[in-house]
Amino acid sequence: MPVLSIGQALGPGSSSCGYCRPPEHRRSINETSYKKAGLLAVKLSCNVYQRMIDRGWRRSGKYCYSPDLRRSCCPQYTIKLDALEYKPSRSQRKVVNRWNRYILDSDNKQPQSSTKQLSFSLQSSIHASEDSFKSTERAAHKFEVKLEPASYSDEKYALYRRYQSQIHQDPDSSSTGFKNFLVQSPLVPEPIPYADSSNVPRHLPRDYGSYHQLYRLDDELIAVGVIDILPFCVSSVYFFYDAKWEKYSLGKLSAMREASLIQEMHAAGAQTMDSLYMGFYIHSCPKMRYKGEYSPSYLADPEEFTWYPLNSCISKLEQYRYATFRYPEHSLEGSGDPGEEGPATAIPNQSLSDVKVVNSIEEGVVYVIPVIASDHWKNGLLRNEFTSCIRALGVDLAKEITFYA
Ligand SMILES: [Zn+2]
Repeated sequence: MPVLSIGQALGPGSSSCGYCRPPEHRRSINETSYKKAGLLAVKLSCNVYQRMIDRGWRRSGKYCYSPDLRRSCCPQYTIKLDALEYKPSRSQRKVVNRWNRYILDSDNKQPQSSTKQLSFSLQSSIHASEDSFKSTERAAHKFEVKLEPASYSDEKYALYRRYQSQIHQDPDSSSTGFKNFLVQSPLVPEPIPYADSSNVPRHLPRDYGSYHQLYRLDDELIAVGVIDILPFCVSSVYFFYDAKWEKYSLGKLSAMREASLIQEMHAAGAQTMDSLYMGFYIHSCPKMRYKGEYSPSYLADPEEFTWYPLNSCISKLEQYRYATFRYPEHSLEGSGDPGEEGPATAIPNQSLSDVKVVNSIEEGVVYVIPVIASDHWKNGLLRNEFTSCIRALGVDLAKEITFYA
């Protein structure tokens, strides 16, 4: 039986932008981040969520949202790295080699040896200092990485709290906030169709779904990567770490480890797995441009959701506040809010007849009817939430979701 996807449609919203300068230095009140719509997801099949992120959506816990790039001061472009073609840059290779040297060598002052591209294999370098991979019997430190389904533990929360306090100067993050943001997920695990499932290395995941990747140094938890493993990609949700390891660039290490995971899964017979989604690329925020340093990367056109090589997008991102790649003439300059898109994008009733909403639940049986036949549709506010959400999903994808209100 196929996995049901169920969620509550949410309309447009806005919040102050987290990527602009700190509030006291903002020049105008236009520094706002807009959302086209949201979806409070009870559960989602991994295939449906894959299609959502391919249309610019992301999730925070069970709350999914679609940013409105046209209206936002700092447009958030969906970026993906072709992980199968990925070649680490010289500085990225240095990060891996430096960490491996720290783990493996008690005398940590040896000159760098293997930063040359020719002698660098991402997969073997990523695992070279790991305890469960053989070569580390006489290592100076014990380094372990474990992939496990997303779950709560006091140890993870303590690290998260420390990270928020050290890196984001927020000492008061609650365990409830941590669970809502990084533990809960609407994704329903489903088996990964490896070509030969009897021959899959033990450290690779067997199911699609939401995971925590735990980094332990000498038995102490030093970092956690929150990732979704989906049919066509690994999607990085968040990464938090102990600031005392900051000089080792653990965030970069985690991105390379995730790229390596994709290569290894593909090699093991997960044939559709090929990309790393690193979250949003925000050109207007210099701190967020590092995502463009992994190559070859592609940005999704914010209207058509087709992919364009990042290099080919840069000049338009420099020129326009809101840059479109398929139809460059739709790009916008200036910081003024152009408002919501007009009735030109109204959805014909015909195609809405296949979008389903829960009408009633009787004796454990859920009865659904077309959304346009429901009482919700007669309520102007609710109808607006539905149409915004359906438009942001696209009708074909909205048909895959059972809505409730
Ligand atoms: Zn901004």
